[in-house]
Amino acid sequence: MTLRQRGIIARQLERRRTSLLKRYREQRARVGSPRGERADPVDQALGEIERGTDLLLMDMELRELEQVERAFLQLEERHFGLCRRCGGAIDWRRLAARPESVLCGACARETEGQRTIH
Ligand SMILES: [Zn+2]
Repeated sequence: MTLRQRGIIARQLERRRTSLLKRYREQRARVGSPRGERADPVDQALGEIERGTDLLLMDMELRELEQVERAFLQLEERHFGLCRRCGGAIDWRRLAARPESVLCGACARETEGQRTIH
C-alpha cells in the first residue's frame, strides 16, 4: 500500500469519525433534554419510543466509533492492509470503504459463504 492510499484511508476515517460524533452529540442532546411538561400520555409514550430509538442509535454509533478508532491505530501498524486469514494484501479500495476490514475480498466472501451454509 502506498502512502497516498494510506492518506486517503485516513481522510476517510476522519470524515466518518466527524459525522459519527456529530450525530452522537445531536442524539445525546435530544435524549438529555426533557420535552417539557406534556400531560398527554400518547405524547409521552411517543417520546419514550423516540428516546429508546435514540439510545439504540447512540449505542450503534459508539460501537462504530470504536471501530474507527481501532482502524486508526491499525493504520499505523506495518501489517495494516494485510488479510488476517491468508496474509495477502487487502484491496485498498475495500479498505477505503471499510477501513476496519481485516479480511481480503476472497476470504470475506468465503467466510460469509460458510456462515450462510451453517
Ligand atoms: Zn485473505
